[in-house]
Amino acid sequence: MNEFIIGIDLGTTNSEVAVLKNHKIMVLEPTPGQLALPSYVGLDAQGTLLVGETAKNQYLLHPERTVKSIKRKMGQSVKVTLGDQTYTPQAIASFLLKHLKNTAEAYLQHPISKAVVTVPAYFTDAQKQATREAGQLADLEIVRLLHEPTAAALAYKTEHRTNKQVLIYDFGGGTFDVSIAHIHNDTIKILSTHGHPQLGGDDFDQKIIDYILNHLQNKYAIDPRQSQPAMAKITRIAEIAKRTLSYHPYVLMQEEFLTEQEGIPIHLSLELSREQYEILIREPVEQTLESTLIALRDAQLKVSDIHEVLLVGGSTRTPLIGQRLAELFRQPPRCEIHPDLCVAMGAALQGALIHGNSPLPTRLVDITPYSFGIYALKEMEGEIQQSIYIPIIARNTPLPIQKTEVFYTVLDNQEAVDIPIFQGENPLDPNNIKLGEFSVEGLSAVPHNNPILVTFSLDVDGVLEVTAIEKQSGLQKTVTVNQAIAFEQNSETTVNQRLNTIFEEITEISQEKVIAEPHHLIIQAQALVEKAGRLLSKVSSENQEDMMELVNQITQAIANKQFKTLSTLIEQLSDILYYVDS
Ligand code: AMP
Repeated sequence: MNEFIIGIDLGTTNSEVAVLKNHKIMVLEPTPGQLALPSYVGLDAQGTLLVGETAKNQYLLHPERTVKSIKRKMGQSVKVTLGDQTYTPQAIASFLLKHLKNTAEAYLQHPISKAVVTVPAYFTDAQKQATREAGQLADLEIVRLLHEPTAAALAYKTEHRTNKQVLIYDFGGGTFDVSIAHIHNDTIKILSTHGHPQLGGDDFDQKIIDYILNHLQNKYAIDPRQSQPAMAKITRIAEIAKRTLSYHPYVLMQEEFLTEQEGIPIHLSLELSREQYEILIREPVEQTLESTLIALRDAQLKVSDIHEVLLVGGSTRTPLIGQRLAELFRQPPRCEIHPDLCVAMGAALQGALIHGNSPLPTRLVDITPYSFGIYALKEMEGEIQQSIYIPIIARNTPLPIQKTEVFYTVLDNQEAVDIPIFQGENPLDPNNIKLGEFSVEGLSAVPHNNPILVTFSLDVDGVLEVTAIEKQSGLQKTVTVNQAIAFEQNSETTVNQRLNTIFEEITEISQEKVIAEPHHLIIQAQALVEKAGRLLSKVSSENQEDMMELVNQITQAIANKQFKTLSTLIEQLSDILYYVDS
């Protein structure tokens, strides 16, 4: 009988369940359309048990019969009161586990009795024991309690390269943890951990809530803190604004009839820019970096000893966090696994490893292997400098992704802007590949610094859509670049079939006058060169020589723009790699 061991991330704010099925990690939906189960449990007015989203919804109005963040109480001999009932923390956690078990059973159409459940690396024995008991109460045998940072490292597949130190930066809704792990011969050892049990994305929400309250005080001289419905709305608006600012340079926070003053309705309409928001959250972000340095010190390591920085937890989508970590470690953090799902994914992988008879997937999620952006003039100390490449979508970002950045006109009454679309990694690299260009004409007659929002949307099929909008008038223009990414084809597809499809795509796109160069061929060649580098040490010396020679010729063909030669070389290298890799 086919048995599954599910992976569960029992989180403070949200919990997730995942399972390996048909060589793919599936994160399941405890509530239709949502992958995360809010870690809330409650009783409704009739005494019916509510778990997840419904419990979260009643929390703001009925906190007396709703409980959240039960993870913080695991292992304590306390009781939790829900209405007129009392429960142990284990019992509350068991309701969450049971819900996730039921979710898996409904999806797999199969009874589930075993799970790998993740716990923080700093959990004491009492906390771990309480988690096991919660499993028993939910009819789940917990076959392994896996440390959360270990689960994340597994999901990032870092176990394949030996002997290195990784830093796992986990910033969730209510807690921050940083762990340093040493990976050696497929074992993952946690060297140190540090954190703040009360610091999380909720603090970022609070900063925006205070910003809104301040605005209401200044504009209407009102303080809605005593009105629960108004505060519930403000809290919701703040969290949505925060998420929006991860992908957008501005957010407009709007709510009709937010509250009232002497019978007159008060509407909210307030803009917040990412720049202003980053000032608000700088202090908590810097606190996490101080913790990171303490964890490094405890592990007796230096910043330069860290080979990789892995991002975990929903709050790591905040751009300022990635930016500060990149500055500190002089390398961009890895973010290709969904930060709020990677712990559950790692737990599911561990479950499959314990189960032992299912091959593990080679890639967990679709990512973009390249960065995409535009060239724009750079201004320094009031002087316009040369045009430089500014990536908007960074390589290794999970797909689909939509991201917007703001650029400004440089002239008074500037009538048009050009948007040159490029693929490339390095702002100064002259070999970045141009994918197309378009202009937006008829801009408003206003002084310079007129904001233009440029949005890049890249879907899982590699279709890139670029839109430029004049912020003040809404004037906009969009172009689509089909197949901006040449995904690696599966091995059954023959080399010829591959090349044929590439050429068809090029013809189709050049008719749209978007593509300036046969960039697919170059992208394909770069992917092959990268793959050849990875496989080089595994092949015979004869094949090694052939591969290196072809890589050299390919590099030259790209430099000399000899695309016909390039396609022949690609074919030859593909053939060798096909046999080496199979
Ligand atoms: P987790 O505990 O890992 O589920 O993380 C939940 C936290 O991540 C909450 O505070 C969310 O508001 C936050 N979060 C989720 N998505 C984003 C986003 N796009 N930008 C910033 N914070 C986010």
